[in-house]
Amino acid sequence: MSTEATTATAEKHIWELLDEVMDPEIPNVSLVELGVIDSVAISDGRVGIGMIPTFSGCPALDVMKSDIREKLTEAGYEAKVTVLRKPWSTDRMADSAREKMKTIGLAPPAKHGGNVEWEMFTKIPCPWCESMDTEITSPFGPTLCRAIYYCNSCQQPFERFKQL
Ligand SMILES: [Zn+2]
Repeated sequence: MSTEATTATAEKHIWELLDEVMDPEIPNVSLVELGVIDSVAISDGRVGIGMIPTFSGCPALDVMKSDIREKLTEAGYEAKVTVLRKPWSTDRMADSAREKMKTIGLAPPAKHGGNVEWEMFTKIPCPWCESMDTEITSPFGPTLCRAIYYCNSCQQPFERFKQL
């Protein structure tokens, strides 16, 4: 195999490994699905990972970094994780991430294409029963990135991951 082919294979393998690293706050969604991993580059046998933090000041950031390093070290890669100063947006989330969030009762943010909705006046479908008869009970949930809603149809509270 040529060097380029070996590097391409290793990069693909690293993306697969990163897809096994779960978000510390959404246990069934990987960092790749969340759109947190921006780039993977290999040079001189070292792996460079570029990541974009979700919400600034998110305490999960350090956990993510050490989880990434741990995963790659286990697989025999020496990795350096660099936090990029690029803005993250919920539009970076994969559709699969949105579907998985619903299965744990977390209403996913809709794609906004740059037009972020004003939370208080937006009807959010219930992740459990898909009813639109829901209301916001608190704009700030357990973390800043989530709001708490109540579904009048199935009478269950749920959280919504805010748009960014
Ligand atoms: Zn419901």
